[in-house]
Amino acid sequence: SPGDVSSLLDDLNPAQREAVSAPLGNMLVLAGAGSGKTRVLVHRIAWLMQVERLSPYAILAVTFTNKAAREMRTRLEALLGLSLRNIWVGTFHSIAHRLLRTHWQDARLPQHFQIIDGDDQLRLIKRLLKDHNIDDERYPPRQVMYFISSCKEEGLRPHQVQTHGDAYMGQMVELYERYQLTCERGGLVDFGELLLRSLELLRDNPRLLAHYRERFAHLLVDEFQDTNTLQYAWLKLLAGDSAGLTVVGDDDQSIYGWRGARVENIRRFEQEFPNTRTVRLEQNYRSTSAILDAANTLISHNAGRMGKELWTAGAKGEPISVYAGFNDLDEARFIVDTIKEKVDEGFNRREIAILYRSNAQSRVIEETLIRQGMPYRIYGGQRFYERLEIKNALAYLRLLLNREDDASLERVINVPARGIGTRTVEILRERARDRGISLWQALHDSVSDGTCKGRAGNALTAFANLIERLDNDTAGMSLHEIIDHINEMSGLVEHHRSEKGEKGQARVENLEELVTAARAFTQGDVFELPEAGEGMAALEAFLAEAALNAGDHEADEFEDGVQLMTLHSAKGLEFPVVFIAGVEEGLFPHKMSMEEPGRLEEERRLCYVGVTRAMHKLYLTYAELRRLHGKETFQRASRFLRELPEELLEEVRLRGQVSRPVTATRPGHGLSQQSSVSAGDDLPSLSLGQRVSHPLFGEGVILNAEGQGERARVQVSFEGEGDKWLVLGFAKLTPL
Ligand code: ATP
Ligand code: MG
Repeated sequence: SPGDVSSLLDDLNPAQREAVSAPLGNMLVLAGAGSGKTRVLVHRIAWLMQVERLSPYAILAVTFTNKAAREMRTRLEALLGLSLRNIWVGTFHSIAHRLLRTHWQDARLPQHFQIIDGDDQLRLIKRLLKDHNIDDERYPPRQVMYFISSCKEEGLRPHQVQTHGDAYMGQMVELYERYQLTCERGGLVDFGELLLRSLELLRDNPRLLAHYRERFAHLLVDEFQDTNTLQYAWLKLLAGDSAGLTVVGDDDQSIYGWRGARVENIRRFEQEFPNTRTVRLEQNYRSTSAILDAANTLISHNAGRMGKELWTAGAKGEPISVYAGFNDLDEARFIVDTIKEKVDEGFNRREIAILYRSNAQSRVIEETLIRQGMPYRIYGGQRFYERLEIKNALAYLRLLLNREDDASLERVINVPARGIGTRTVEILRERARDRGISLWQALHDSVSDGTCKGRAGNALTAFANLIERLDNDTAGMSLHEIIDHINEMSGLVEHHRSEKGEKGQARVENLEELVTAARAFTQGDVFELPEAGEGMAALEAFLAEAALNAGDHEADEFEDGVQLMTLHSAKGLEFPVVFIAGVEEGLFPHKMSMEEPGRLEEERRLCYVGVTRAMHKLYLTYAELRRLHGKETFQRASRFLRELPEELLEEVRLRGQVSRPVTATRPGHGLSQQSSVSAGDDLPSLSLGQRVSHPLFGEGVILNAEGQGERARVQVSFEGEGDKWLVLGFAKLTPL
């Protein structure tokens, strides 16, 4: 029964029990995928409360996503049979945010500081470059952003960055400084800043640090292999000499090196935290032995691993299916057809996941799913809170809270259009820059001293009045009423309603969805903040949540849809059926990482993460011809496929439809390299991807094929003529 001590250890193996019931102190659980690390973490929290008698107040648990945090809380409540409103479970970011909200004065932040995401950051940087006439080819905005984030991840403020007299670096540091100034003035906090600020907050306020050290008796961290330098320092500072730490991780699943994660933190942990007990878990409970063997073999190609054993008592299961599509459309079609079969076999759609390396891959798959009427959910990608209309609505809300928020003001000053042109905005911007004031201030000054008069002046005044009026109107309203009111009165709803086509409709629906999200938020359905409160306080909390969460909520977990996500966002999750799409050289491993051995190993770890998400059945698919970024390229199967034991693989052939005899076999590898279509004996046999010539259309490449015999058709992409479907029996195609 819940709350019973022995039940905490019931469904655990001896090694897991040892970890869960270890005495207070430091512990590292180092173990492969699916061995129950997360399960151990949850049970350990329950154990600490029930047996060690720690108050929930004394526990701090860090997870990698908000979704994982919510899950952890739910599982804990089920284990203990009680509600745990005041336990701190969250991501590094959400916990840092909570600290800063509570102690904004000590953190030297304005009370209503706003969190900005990567998109806002980039806009801000672009504007800085423009304002200071800095060449954005020499200093690409993304690179500047990356530089600033990396500095923050290493805990460096502008004056601490070593430039070694290098002019380029000097400019970068200057940009960092300017960026920081703009953020300070607008009360804006980016993700890196959340952590760095909260570290400084604790470090520079001994009284506060003492308070939290006394409070938190035990800290727990999931996915420890992906902590960065700053997060490590943060943990170490907070733990001090007295708190115990339990961290769980897997060096083979470190996939955020490109974002500053340091897998060395695992080794460092054992050395720097005294008397660390190290526990290894070796039994995998997630996958069939075919899947697990494949994963083990794959990862054995990496050097310098910490070395772990992983076995399963489970059945061998089905072989891993490999499908070579002749193009990306065919690949998508295969995936969707197979999902239909799986659903007929009795799987729920949400038990099936499609994973891919790059977000851009999702489009073709999504379109195929839509065409076949198959419901799906997408994590990441164009996330709800990152959609244009949502960001516009949020910008209005932010302006209500803080008129000095330049980024938000600029975003909505002329959305919907109200006759404020770019020239007028230029004038405000210049003025703000020259006098070191906010755009809002500059707007008022330019109207009152007549710099902007006539139509422009009137439009500006109308805008300022609108914001003030909205502020007045919404006093005393509840959060969702505020949002509803602003959607209407700002003209946003009307603006999108008048847009042509489905897109406008979808945007209106999204604005409505925002009201729904706000209502859910105040009802406490999500990670709650200290005193979420009413009205403006709730609004502030909600905006922070929107910025932190970007996308996490979007997928309605109760709806039965196929789950689409990048391999990165699949970390920690598991699904009965998994497809990994686009297993091709250049795509996965990604071409950016093929030159560097270190990066290649990270790609392999990412593949290991993908493979180990699967419980019963795994499909690996690739396309021999792929359109990406508007270009068509011939693709080769990924080296990762070749690294898998051949006896665990099974090639899937297309059934019915098109006859596709295998014409060639890759040396040392049982996968077909080319497939061919044929309309009969008297006609030339044509391969997909083959170059052909047509008397009228000229030269082209065969993209696609369907039908048999008389009805066999091929799709050919002709240079300058576009794609055409031709009936093989009539079209005079000559192979080249
Ligand atoms: P990852 O490295 O992918 O994050 P993990 O090590 O955190 O994996 P969990 O997600 O905790 O692994 O566990 C994997 C699966 O195995 C879960 O479904 C979990 O419930 C199950 N499991 C773990 N331990 C046991 C056990 N002792 N008995 C039965 N099932 C278990
Ligand atoms: Mg886990």
